[in-house]
This record gives sequence, structure tokens and C-alpha cells, in this order.
Amino acid sequence: MSEAQFQQRRCSHCGVQKTPQWRTGPLGAKTLCNACGVRFKSGRLLPEYRPACSPTFSSEVHSNNHRKVLEMRRKKEVIMPEAELNHQPVQFI
Ligand SMILES: [Zn+2]
Repeated sequence: MSEAQFQQRRCSHCGVQKTPQWRTGPLGAKTLCNACGVRFKSGRLLPEYRPACSPTFSSEVHSNNHRKVLEMRRKKEVIMPEAELNHQPVQFI
């Protein structure tokens, strides 16, 4: 791996360019930074998750804490309940 390649690499989720280790993500091997990759592996990489060191981090819409991410999602569901309804099977036909 050359130095130039290393510097061009970006996390496909949060845009971070510096990480102690690149990890496998939905786009392939070494496309996620360490923090995102760990969450992707455990199935917790949600759009609202973002490491605080990310250049695109915004405390309004992102959090680096999984519990807070879940809280944010719950609030969104309250605002858009129809998204939740689409997941429910139709039972009264
Ligand atoms: Zn990342």
C-alpha cells in the first residue's frame, strides 16, 4: 500500500480520512474507518451514527453514541409514523 493511496482513502460512511485501522463495510473491504467498521460488523451502523472526529459530524443529526442514535430514530418515528405502518403486515383481509 503506497502513502498516496492511504491519504486518499475515506470512510464511506462518515468521511473520516484518518483511522488506526480500515475495516470492511457494505462497499467492500477497507471502506470504513475503525469506528464505523466495528458498528457495521455488529449491525449497528445506522445513518445517524457518526464519530465525533468526522468532518461531516453535526450534533443536530448525528451522534457517536449508539443509545443516542436510537433515541434520535425514535423521535423521527414519532414525526413520521407512516414509515412505521408500512412495515406492518395487513391482517384484516
Ligand atoms: Zn467512519
